[in-house]
Amino acid sequence: MKDIGDTEHIGDSEDTADRSYDDHMRAALAEAELAIPHGDVPVGALVVVDGEVIASRHNERQLTGDPTAHAEVLAMREACQQLGTWRLDEATLISTLEPCTMCAGAAVNARVQKVVFGAPDLEAGAIGSVYNFGEDPRLRHTFEVKHDVLGDECAQSLKSFFASLRA
Ligand SMILES: [Zn+2]
Repeated sequence: MKDIGDTEHIGDSEDTADRSYDDHMRAALAEAELAIPHGDVPVGALVVVDGEVIASRHNERQLTGDPTAHAEVLAMREACQQLGTWRLDEATLISTLEPCTMCAGAAVNARVQKVVFGAPDLEAGAIGSVYNFGEDPRLRHTFEVKHDVLGDECAQSLKSFFASLRA
């Protein structure tokens, strides 16, 4: 897999930015846990603008019977409602799991500025693992990508969930 984490140009502020992503990713992990009581795979997503969380959602596919109710889509919808616009061009989408084609496509359409994720999804990930939305010049919009933020913790959260299903 191409290292898509080296495309940033934030220079001296990188350490500070990384720490703030850790904090946001911890919040996204806590949000993800809220999916478990209703039998959904624990994925959590936030939308952050100017360092402030404006939407925080978890996967609700089982809960709602809606195949589009992934955490990222729900968080982006809520953020758009908050802001009163479909454009999220000053927003960062943060997800515990690498977004799928639908969610990455929604991020392209919402013109998000940046996508940050934790664990890669080697089977369905659309931001570097299987497809590479965000850096595909054929799409109308590209966004910055930061991957592997608390990646081990995010992967472990999913592993624990699937292990509990088999137990
Ligand atoms: Zn998705």
